[in-house]
Amino acid sequence: MPEPSLPPTLTQMALTVFISDSLRYALAAGAVWLVVQVLLRRRLAGRRILDAAPAPGQIRREITYSLSTVAIFATNGLLLWLLISNDTVEVYPDVERRGWTWWWISLVLIIVAHDAWFYWTHRALHDRRWFRAVHGRHHASLHPTPWAAYAFHPVEALVQAIFLPLFLLVMPVHAGVLGVFLLHMILRNVIGHCAHELFPWRWTPRGWMRWITPVSHHHFHHARNRGNYGLYFTWWDRLCGTEDPEYLRYGDERFGAIVRREATT
Ligand SMILES: [Zn+2]
Ligand SMILES: [Zn+2]
Repeated sequence: MPEPSLPPTLTQMALTVFISDSLRYALAAGAVWLVVQVLLRRRLAGRRILDAAPAPGQIRREITYSLSTVAIFATNGLLLWLLISNDTVEVYPDVERRGWTWWWISLVLIIVAHDAWFYWTHRALHDRRWFRAVHGRHHASLHPTPWAAYAFHPVEALVQAIFLPLFLLVMPVHAGVLGVFLLHMILRNVIGHCAHELFPWRWTPRGWMRWITPVSHHHFHHARNRGNYGLYFTWWDRLCGTEDPEYLRYGDERFGAIVRREATT
Protein backbone atom coordinates (compact mmCIF):
# COMPACT_ATOMS: atom_id res chain seq x y z
CA MET A 1 0.00 0.00 0.00
CA PRO A 2 1.38 3.43 -0.88
CA GLU A 3 2.32 5.75 1.97
CA PRO A 4 -0.01 8.75 2.30
CA SER A 5 1.71 11.69 0.60
CA LEU A 6 2.21 15.12 2.22
CA PRO A 7 0.11 17.32 -0.13
CA PRO A 8 -3.28 15.65 0.61
CA THR A 9 -2.52 15.80 4.35
CA LEU A 10 -1.65 19.47 4.04
CA THR A 11 -4.85 20.03 2.04
CA GLN A 12 -6.88 18.15 4.64
CA MET A 13 -5.30 20.19 7.41
CA ALA A 14 -5.92 23.44 5.51
CA LEU A 15 -9.58 22.49 5.13
CA THR A 16 -9.86 21.49 8.78
CA VAL A 17 -8.42 24.76 10.14
CA PHE A 18 -10.44 26.85 7.67
CA ILE A 19 -13.70 25.10 8.59
CA SER A 20 -13.02 25.23 12.33
CA ASP A 21 -12.03 28.93 12.23
CA SER A 22 -15.12 29.77 10.16
CA LEU A 23 -17.40 27.81 12.50
CA ARG A 24 -15.84 29.35 15.60
CA TYR A 25 -16.65 32.83 14.29
CA ALA A 26 -20.06 32.03 12.76
CA LEU A 27 -21.38 29.99 15.70
CA ALA A 28 -20.18 32.39 18.42
CA ALA A 29 -21.29 35.59 16.64
CA GLY A 30 -24.51 33.95 15.45
CA ALA A 31 -25.41 32.59 18.89
CA VAL A 32 -24.79 35.88 20.72
CA TRP A 33 -26.60 37.83 17.97
CA LEU A 34 -29.57 35.43 18.08
CA VAL A 35 -29.88 35.50 21.88
CA VAL A 36 -29.19 39.22 22.49
CA GLN A 37 -30.59 40.89 19.38
CA VAL A 38 -33.49 38.53 18.61
CA LEU A 39 -34.69 36.13 21.33
CA LEU A 40 -34.13 38.36 24.40
CA ARG A 41 -34.41 41.68 22.57
CA ARG A 42 -37.27 42.96 24.73
CA ARG A 43 -36.00 41.62 28.01
CA LEU A 44 -32.58 43.18 27.42
CA ALA A 45 -33.92 46.54 26.18
CA GLY A 46 -32.90 48.25 29.44
CA ARG A 47 -29.39 46.84 29.06
CA ARG A 48 -28.85 48.34 25.60
CA ILE A 49 -25.81 50.63 25.57
CA LEU A 50 -26.38 54.11 24.07
CA ASP A 51 -29.75 53.22 22.43
CA ALA A 52 -28.27 53.32 18.93
CA ALA A 53 -29.08 50.97 16.06
CA PRO A 54 -26.52 49.56 13.58
CA ALA A 55 -26.15 51.62 10.38
CA PRO A 56 -27.71 50.29 7.12
CA GLY A 57 -25.46 47.67 5.51
CA GLN A 58 -23.30 47.49 8.64
CA ILE A 59 -23.80 43.79 9.41
CA ARG A 60 -23.00 42.80 5.83
CA ARG A 61 -19.77 44.83 5.99
CA GLU A 62 -18.83 43.35 9.39
CA ILE A 63 -19.31 39.79 8.09
CA THR A 64 -17.36 40.44 4.87
CA TYR A 65 -14.36 41.86 6.74
CA SER A 66 -14.57 39.09 9.34
CA LEU A 67 -14.43 36.41 6.65
CA SER A 68 -11.18 37.86 5.31
CA THR A 69 -9.83 37.67 8.89
CA VAL A 70 -11.00 34.03 9.17
CA ALA A 71 -8.93 33.25 6.03
CA ILE A 72 -5.85 34.89 7.61
CA PHE A 73 -6.39 33.14 10.97
CA ALA A 74 -6.80 29.81 9.16
CA THR A 75 -3.53 30.35 7.26
CA ASN A 76 -1.92 31.11 10.61
CA GLY A 77 -3.48 27.94 12.05
CA LEU A 78 -1.97 25.94 9.21
CA LEU A 79 1.44 27.50 9.84
CA LEU A 80 1.06 26.61 13.50
CA TRP A 81 0.22 23.02 12.61
CA LEU A 82 3.44 22.84 10.53
CA LEU A 83 5.43 24.27 13.46
CA ILE A 84 3.87 21.65 15.79
CA SER A 85 4.54 18.85 13.26
CA ASN A 86 8.25 19.63 13.04
CA ASP A 87 8.54 20.17 16.83
CA THR A 88 9.41 23.87 16.58
CA VAL A 89 6.58 24.59 19.05
CA GLU A 90 5.13 22.21 21.62
CA VAL A 91 1.37 21.65 21.84
CA TYR A 92 1.20 18.34 23.68
CA PRO A 93 -1.76 15.95 23.81
CA ASP A 94 -1.26 14.28 27.23
CA VAL A 95 -1.73 16.34 30.43
CA GLU A 96 0.65 14.00 32.29
CA ARG A 97 3.62 15.26 30.30
CA ARG A 98 3.74 18.52 32.31
CA GLY A 99 0.96 18.02 34.88
CA TRP A 100 -2.18 19.92 35.90
CA THR A 101 -0.29 22.74 37.66
CA TRP A 102 1.34 23.76 34.38
CA TRP A 103 -1.99 23.28 32.59
CA TRP A 104 -3.63 25.98 34.73
CA ILE A 105 -0.57 28.28 34.90
CA SER A 106 -0.17 28.17 31.12
CA LEU A 107 -3.88 28.93 30.63
CA VAL A 108 -3.61 32.06 32.82
CA LEU A 109 -0.34 33.08 31.14
CA ILE A 110 -1.66 32.79 27.59
CA ILE A 111 -4.79 34.84 28.37
CA VAL A 112 -2.88 37.54 30.30
CA ALA A 113 -0.18 37.70 27.60
CA HIS A 114 -2.77 37.96 24.83
CA ASP A 115 -4.50 40.81 26.67
CA ALA A 116 -1.16 42.68 26.91
CA TRP A 117 -0.42 41.97 23.24
CA PHE A 118 -3.86 43.26 22.25
CA TYR A 119 -3.62 46.40 24.42
CA TRP A 120 -0.25 47.53 23.09
CA THR A 121 -0.80 46.64 19.43
CA HIS A 122 -4.30 48.13 19.54
CA ARG A 123 -2.98 51.32 21.11
CA ALA A 124 -0.25 51.54 18.45
CA LEU A 125 -2.90 51.08 15.73
CA HIS A 126 -4.60 54.20 17.10
CA ASP A 127 -1.64 56.27 15.93
CA ARG A 128 -3.19 58.64 13.37
CA ARG A 129 -1.48 57.12 10.32
CA TRP A 130 -2.14 53.51 11.30
CA PHE A 131 -5.70 54.35 12.24
CA ARG A 132 -6.39 55.90 8.84
CA ALA A 133 -4.69 53.09 6.89
CA VAL A 134 -5.63 50.04 8.97
CA HIS A 135 -7.59 50.18 12.22
CA GLY A 136 -10.26 52.62 10.97
CA ARG A 137 -11.85 49.66 9.21
CA HIS A 138 -12.77 48.10 12.58
CA HIS A 139 -14.07 51.46 13.81
CA ALA A 140 -16.40 51.81 10.81
CA SER A 141 -18.98 50.31 13.23
CA LEU A 142 -19.84 53.09 15.69
CA HIS A 143 -22.34 50.81 17.42
CA PRO A 144 -21.03 47.33 16.61
CA THR A 145 -22.87 44.01 16.49
CA PRO A 146 -21.36 40.60 17.43
CA TRP A 147 -20.54 40.14 13.73
CA ALA A 148 -17.86 42.87 14.09
CA ALA A 149 -15.73 40.58 16.27
CA TYR A 150 -13.27 39.87 13.42
CA ALA A 151 -13.98 42.92 11.22
CA PHE A 152 -10.31 43.81 10.74
CA HIS A 153 -8.14 45.14 7.95
CA PRO A 154 -5.86 42.25 6.79
CA VAL A 155 -2.82 43.96 8.38
CA GLU A 156 -4.58 44.07 11.75
CA ALA A 157 -5.71 40.44 11.35
CA LEU A 158 -2.05 39.52 10.75
CA VAL A 159 -0.92 41.47 13.85
CA GLN A 160 -3.49 39.61 15.95
CA ALA A 161 -2.76 36.21 14.36
CA ILE A 162 0.97 36.35 15.00
CA PHE A 163 0.50 36.36 18.79
CA LEU A 164 -0.15 32.62 19.01
CA PRO A 165 2.96 31.33 17.18
CA LEU A 166 5.10 33.86 19.08
CA PHE A 167 3.70 32.74 22.45
CA LEU A 168 4.06 29.05 21.61
CA LEU A 169 7.69 29.55 20.59
CA VAL A 170 8.47 30.34 24.24
CA MET A 171 5.80 28.37 26.18
CA PRO A 172 4.60 24.79 25.69
CA VAL A 173 0.86 24.32 26.18
CA HIS A 174 -1.52 21.37 26.33
CA ALA A 175 -3.93 21.08 23.37
CA GLY A 176 -6.85 21.63 25.77
CA VAL A 177 -5.36 24.95 26.97
CA LEU A 178 -5.18 26.07 23.34
CA GLY A 179 -8.84 25.09 22.87
CA VAL A 180 -10.01 26.94 25.99
CA PHE A 181 -7.94 30.00 25.00
CA LEU A 182 -9.50 30.09 21.50
CA LEU A 183 -13.01 29.58 22.88
CA HIS A 184 -12.56 32.30 25.52
CA MET A 185 -11.11 34.66 22.91
CA ILE A 186 -14.02 34.39 20.49
CA LEU A 187 -16.67 34.49 23.24
CA ARG A 188 -15.25 37.60 24.94
CA ASN A 189 -14.78 39.16 21.53
CA VAL A 190 -18.36 38.67 20.28
CA ILE A 191 -19.84 39.57 23.69
CA GLY A 192 -17.70 42.73 23.72
CA HIS A 193 -19.41 43.80 20.48
CA CYS A 194 -23.01 42.90 21.39
CA ALA A 195 -24.06 46.49 22.33
CA HIS A 196 -25.77 45.34 25.54
CA GLU A 197 -24.29 45.46 29.02
CA LEU A 198 -24.51 41.79 29.98
CA PHE A 199 -22.23 42.02 33.03
CA PRO A 200 -23.63 43.04 36.45
CA TRP A 201 -22.41 46.63 36.90
CA ARG A 202 -21.95 46.13 40.66
CA TRP A 203 -19.42 43.36 39.88
CA THR A 204 -17.61 44.97 36.99
CA PRO A 205 -16.35 47.63 36.71
CA ARG A 206 -17.56 48.63 40.20
CA GLY A 207 -17.10 45.50 42.32
CA TRP A 208 -14.97 42.44 42.97
CA MET A 209 -14.55 41.76 39.21
CA ARG A 210 -13.41 45.32 38.41
CA TRP A 211 -10.42 43.94 36.52
CA ILE A 212 -12.68 42.29 33.90
CA THR A 213 -13.81 44.52 31.00
CA PRO A 214 -17.61 44.89 30.84
CA VAL A 215 -19.29 45.21 27.42
CA SER A 216 -19.58 49.01 27.83
CA HIS A 217 -15.78 49.23 27.96
CA HIS A 218 -15.33 48.25 24.31
CA HIS A 219 -18.65 49.69 23.17
CA PHE A 220 -17.55 53.15 24.30
CA HIS A 221 -14.22 52.55 22.57
CA HIS A 222 -16.19 52.27 19.29
CA ALA A 223 -18.70 55.03 20.01
CA ARG A 224 -16.28 57.67 21.35
CA ASN A 225 -12.78 56.53 20.47
CA ARG A 226 -11.30 58.10 23.63
CA GLY A 227 -9.29 55.25 25.16
CA ASN A 228 -10.36 51.80 26.51
CA TYR A 229 -7.87 49.81 24.42
CA GLY A 230 -7.91 46.67 26.59
CA LEU A 231 -9.53 43.37 25.59
CA TYR A 232 -10.19 41.09 28.58
CA PHE A 233 -8.91 43.15 31.50
CA THR A 234 -9.11 46.77 32.64
CA TRP A 235 -5.67 46.94 34.26
CA TRP A 236 -3.59 48.23 31.31
CA ASP A 237 -6.00 51.10 30.65
CA ARG A 238 -6.01 52.03 34.35
CA LEU A 239 -2.24 51.70 34.71
CA CYS A 240 -1.56 53.80 31.59
CA GLY A 241 -4.32 56.39 32.12
CA THR A 242 -6.18 55.45 28.92
CA GLU A 243 -9.50 54.54 30.54
CA ASP A 244 -12.42 56.59 29.19
CA PRO A 245 -14.12 58.04 32.32
CA GLU A 246 -17.29 58.68 30.33
CA TYR A 247 -18.11 54.96 30.13
CA LEU A 248 -17.99 54.72 33.91
CA ARG A 249 -20.09 57.87 34.40
CA TYR A 250 -22.68 56.70 31.85
CA GLY A 251 -22.77 53.14 33.21
CA ASP A 252 -23.12 54.32 36.82
CA GLU A 253 -26.10 56.40 35.78
CA ARG A 254 -27.76 53.83 33.57
CA PHE A 255 -26.83 50.35 34.77
CA GLY A 256 -26.09 51.38 38.35
CA ALA A 257 -29.69 52.58 38.49
CA ILE A 258 -30.92 49.19 37.21
CA VAL A 259 -28.90 47.45 39.88
CA ARG A 260 -30.38 49.69 42.57
CA ARG A 261 -33.91 49.08 41.26
CA GLU A 262 -33.35 45.29 41.19
CA ALA A 263 -32.04 45.47 44.74
CA THR A 264 -35.14 47.27 46.05
CA THR A 265 -37.72 45.00 44.34
ZN1 LIG B 1 -9.68 50.69 18.36
ZN1 LIG C 1 -14.23 46.37 18.45
